[in-house]
Amino acid sequence: MINCPRCHQPADDRAIACPHCKLSLKAFGHPGIPLHRATGDEYLCTTCVYHADDTCNYPQRPYAKDCTLYRDLNEPPEPPPPSNTEVNWLEQLINWFN
Ligand SMILES: [Zn+2]
Repeated sequence: MINCPRCHQPADDRAIACPHCKLSLKAFGHPGIPLHRATGDEYLCTTCVYHADDTCNYPQRPYAKDCTLYRDLNEPPEPPPPSNTEVNWLEQLINWFN
């Protein structure tokens, strides 16, 4: 279980939206894509690895309040790389969005 960043009610890890306040918890309505949200007044970019190493090309940068690619500077371990199917799925989605 996770806690909703807005209303702080418990929500299922895989829920795409908060069952209480309907806040989007995942990007594109897909449970496999976590959507990170800034809590409080801080921007995500302030603590994001990709902002720090200047590889981020997100239009909201450096004022992103939510981001699918955010990675916390304070969390050093690399997440396991996604499987090929997931990468292809994401590429297709990105192409479709463009
Ligand atoms: Zn909520």
